[in-house]
Amino acid sequence: MMMTLTQTHLRISRLDRMLITAVVLLSSVFPVELFSNTLPAPKGLDGQYSGKQGQVLVVKVKGEEQATEVQGTFLSRTIPFFREFRPGEPVGYIGLLGIDMQDDPGTYEFAVEVKQGEQAKQLSFNVLVAKEQFAVEHLNLPKEKVDLNAKSVTRWKEEQQVVQQALAENSRMKLWHSNFVEPVNGKRTGIFGSVRIMNGQPRNPHNGEDIGAPMGADVAATNDGIVRITVDHIFSGKGVFVDHGLGFYSMYFHLSEILVKDGDLVTAGQIIGKVGATGRATGPHLHWGVKLNGARVNPYSLLDLPFKNGKSFSTATPAPAPDTSPAPQAVQAGE
Ligand SMILES: [Zn+2]
Repeated sequence: MMMTLTQTHLRISRLDRMLITAVVLLSSVFPVELFSNTLPAPKGLDGQYSGKQGQVLVVKVKGEEQATEVQGTFLSRTIPFFREFRPGEPVGYIGLLGIDMQDDPGTYEFAVEVKQGEQAKQLSFNVLVAKEQFAVEHLNLPKEKVDLNAKSVTRWKEEQQVVQQALAENSRMKLWHSNFVEPVNGKRTGIFGSVRIMNGQPRNPHNGEDIGAPMGADVAATNDGIVRITVDHIFSGKGVFVDHGLGFYSMYFHLSEILVKDGDLVTAGQIIGKVGATGRATGPHLHWGVKLNGARVNPYSLLDLPFKNGKSFSTATPAPAPDTSPAPQAVQAGE
């Protein structure tokens, strides 16, 4: 019995010595981390969120009635918060966090700064980005619409610049107020984010949702905003870009007719154009896209947001939304 105890004691002593040696060695390599009293603050203490690629998350900051500005940063994208008043509820700040369709799956920090005059407080949320299973879509288009000649490439590049410049000046105010509206009554294809094979060649993934609808059907603005730019471009055809404020844009492509002008104020549900097949499209449909502070998100995730009928929304950790998108099906498509 004595023997066993001694052996145990010896083993512990040896382990202690090894640990001490390891700490001394490590401390010479990482002196600050091991012995400083000012350890880096742990991340993600203020909440956890999760969502799939292309989803929109609602992040709420409560108990900051005196805040003058709230702004977050997620994967180098800036997310401005807006003040939200609801009868019988404390004032809160809300940020719409868009997960880009190509953000890599993983856990990232959403760092939020709450400013009150000269003072600033940091909040830290963890956001788990889950992989979305995007469809693979094969499209057959006229050769000249896929293999662009030099002239078309130049045109396409110029048009990209025009759009970028127009969208650089987004409204600093939140312009949308009411429920989000589906812009057209049609067949949702569920091909947001799909990998695209055009005439057998892999192309950029599809950055919006295509809705099959008859030629000339009404297209409505999804919410209140200002028409930032109307275009007639090589890929998008006749298109309208609506600025809803705070870096949130919706876009409507392949229209046969545009019923608004640059700078027009529009309201949710207002008819802004007619369904068509202009630009790179195989037939009449609406391409509906949404950009949220640079993130390409599934426009239908707006309809799932808890901003309906003035109802309150949960601030608890949201569970990943169930996958309710219909199976991909054949539809007229294009950009
Ligand atoms: Zn499309």
